[in-house]
Amino acid sequence: MKLAELGEFGFIERIRAAAASGEGVCHGIGDDCAVLELPAGHRLLTTKDLLIEGVHFQRNWTDSRRLGRKSVSVNVSDIAAMGGRPRHLYLGLGVPADFDVEELQLFMDGFLEAVTEYGACLVGGDTCRSPGPLLISVTAEGAVPAGRELLRGGARVGQGIYVSGTLGDSALALQLLTSGVAVDPYLEGRHHDPTARVALGGALARDGLATAMIDISDGVTADLGHILKASGVGALLEEAQLPLSEPFKMALHNDPHLMQLVLSGGEDYELLFTAPLDSEGALRSLSEKLRLPLKRIGMITPSDEGLRLRNAAGEVLHIDSRGFNHFQGVTAPGR
Ligand SMILES: [Mg+2]
Repeated sequence: MKLAELGEFGFIERIRAAAASGEGVCHGIGDDCAVLELPAGHRLLTTKDLLIEGVHFQRNWTDSRRLGRKSVSVNVSDIAAMGGRPRHLYLGLGVPADFDVEELQLFMDGFLEAVTEYGACLVGGDTCRSPGPLLISVTAEGAVPAGRELLRGGARVGQGIYVSGTLGDSALALQLLTSGVAVDPYLEGRHHDPTARVALGGALARDGLATAMIDISDGVTADLGHILKASGVGALLEEAQLPLSEPFKMALHNDPHLMQLVLSGGEDYELLFTAPLDSEGALRSLSEKLRLPLKRIGMITPSDEGLRLRNAAGEVLHIDSRGFNHFQGVTAPGR
């Protein structure tokens, strides 16, 4: 069935029936606006992401359900990066003529499944026919205890730089998908269905463990670069400390150039944060509790030292903080 046959209102009615109500929702989908409230003593976090077919994803590389899940996770990741909890999401869809209602339903199943997993709910949106590619626009709102929000400007000289999980998996999967090579299911999952680190971000903010934080969407050097700029500091990264998954290590063994993907690949959706070294005991406990590796990958240095990397051979090199940039060149087709 085509969307035109079901009609926009029919589709919205389906979504309304499937969208669970949630915390802070006085009135959800169905009126001119959603009516929402925040818990006392909290501040509102708001973020938006646009996903465009042919720019951010290829429909033939993924399935609609995982695309729905990823549309949620990339937004929720920004809420996590501020130390917040996601609460409400809004979905705007531009649907091409060949995207039938069954595909749309799969997309919505994945979208709502992820929303529920993150403890949030869908409270509004809009759909329209797209004369071109599939367009997905998601706005996410979250809440953070007032004054606990983790900004990019809080890093200080002498603090450690930490990262959750592993780096480079998503970029490696994208590179393999682009070249039409079979992709390890773990790596493919990291690209198509990333996990926003909500529990980690929330705990770091609540316990006052981190001083600055960002999620890794454009690559560790680019995103660290945002923290360095906002904080007015430099950094020394240790290549030997960058956390890698076993599938990535195997690929790196065959092609040492893949280290570039670890530094500037992007779409890891891990959290990158700075913390005083005396937080390390608490960070270890948190890592065990969440069963999520946290690794110190470098140190914050004075700003005049810029961004440097000590490579495997022990040489200290200045590195470019530019990761992937949508307007300044393309590291891989299809992005
Ligand atoms: Mg971000």
